Amino acid sequence: MKGIMYNSTRGKDINVSSVEALIKGIADDGGLYVPSYFYNIDNLDEMMNLDYQSLAYKIIKDFFPEFSKEEITKYINSAYDNKFDTPNIAPLIKKDGVYFLELFHGPTLAFKDMALTLLPHLLMGGNKKNNNSAEIVILTATSGDTGKAALEAFKNIEGVKIIVLYPSKGVSEIQKRQMITQEGDNTFVIAIEGCFDDAQSAIKEIFTDREFNNAIRSKGYIFSSANSINIGRLIPQTVYYFYAYLQMLKTGEINIDEKVNIAVPTGNFGNILAAYYCMKMGLPVNKLICASNENNVLHDFFKTGVYDKRRNLKPTISPSMDIIISSNLERLLYDMSKGNARLIANMMEELNKKGYYIIPDSLKDRMELFYGGYSDEASTLSAIEEIYNKTNYVVDTHTAVAYSVYMNYLDETKDHTKTIIASTASPFKFTKSVCDALKINRNETTDFQLIELLANAIGEPTPVPIRNIETKPILHNTLCKKDDIKNVIENILGI
Ligand SMILES: *Cc1c(COP(=O)(O)O)cnc(C)c1O
Repeated sequence: MKGIMYNSTRGKDINVSSVEALIKGIADDGGLYVPSYFYNIDNLDEMMNLDYQSLAYKIIKDFFPEFSKEEITKYINSAYDNKFDTPNIAPLIKKDGVYFLELFHGPTLAFKDMALTLLPHLLMGGNKKNNNSAEIVILTATSGDTGKAALEAFKNIEGVKIIVLYPSKGVSEIQKRQMITQEGDNTFVIAIEGCFDDAQSAIKEIFTDREFNNAIRSKGYIFSSANSINIGRLIPQTVYYFYAYLQMLKTGEINIDEKVNIAVPTGNFGNILAAYYCMKMGLPVNKLICASNENNVLHDFFKTGVYDKRRNLKPTISPSMDIIISSNLERLLYDMSKGNARLIANMMEELNKKGYYIIPDSLKDRMELFYGGYSDEASTLSAIEEIYNKTNYVVDTHTAVAYSVYMNYLDETKDHTKTIIASTASPFKFTKSVCDALKINRNETTDFQLIELLANAIGEPTPVPIRNIETKPILHNTLCKKDDIKNVIENILGI
């Protein structure tokens, strides 16, 4: 028994090892790698006292069967260490009857750290196992948070270069400053004149461009990905949902086997897919609440069964969710169609050619597990204010989208199942909007000055990772048109 292998959602690549899936990031046929099966995590009641690292080991190990127990343990302990500002790693905070799962205690203040602190260890360890002498080039598109988290994770690691593409006008001032002040000899940050989808599509194209890949290979490089298309991002994200559930069990908030709802502010569908995978592994889940901002493709999809990307992207105050093509939905469809790769390949081709696809009725019925909702800008701002007024607790704009959608869900369904809300970023990354919501006077104040002002207003210290960020030297200033992305990458790699 070889354990879990990986298959492409589009059917051509099958039985690839976890190491190969990690390094390649995306399959040659353009599909995404999915585990060949899921095993059950049972006896949850015996796991309540595990710390985050031990739980992570139990959940993650079988997905990476090529690694030894010692290797995985070492990686986990190096990932979830004092880079996080709390030993709990992912604290669960109960406010006004809902459970906020705080995923932003890592080095860059967003949930991307939960997986990106671990990914470099898996990737570099895997590369060593493969006796691969090629240098890895991590090519990453970001809607704001992945970029910084990946840069921090891979900076100054030998044998890697990291190139991050971000939409020049599509991230918050603080997110942008975090990236363009990035240190490290092997880091490259590029602003593109376009949106996240442009960056993600360009990268997917490059990954599957055989000629280009041969060219870079002959120069001693191979591409890999730090986006949630990489299984090394997705699998580590399952740990914290189990962790949250176990905290609730431990504190007596729920009984064993009691189902919970999970509400997730969603962009590329990675974080909520991880919650779905947890359910497949035995986590008792009632509903998965998929929360979108005004870019509400997923809301429409869950309602109608039609995924239609023919619309303009709207820049919102929750920029990390400003996405129209949610890549990981492909993995959900694959799973729900019981691995019907031909169907998936056809639908993805329709999306590419016609701009939309329609799922068969049999699939639509299975989507009942999900509730899709969205929050407009005004509702998101009032959600921040409402939570603060009720509980003195401040959430960021993305978390507020999830809260707002959850409140609508509650209104509509009267389903009082206990609900976990994935809190995906620190409010200090989005000071402008959060201060607007809380009506903290801003006049001519910059986003950076607002960090201080927000801290004073809510009586919390400013988070260390962004302290004095406005005085750090700017080290990256490349701006490129979306058609020039390939050229810029060639220049960086000297091709
Ligand atoms: C990336 C991100 C999201 C969306 O997560 P997906 O996995 O892409 O759905 C939500 N909130 C924040 C703060 C993020 O950085």
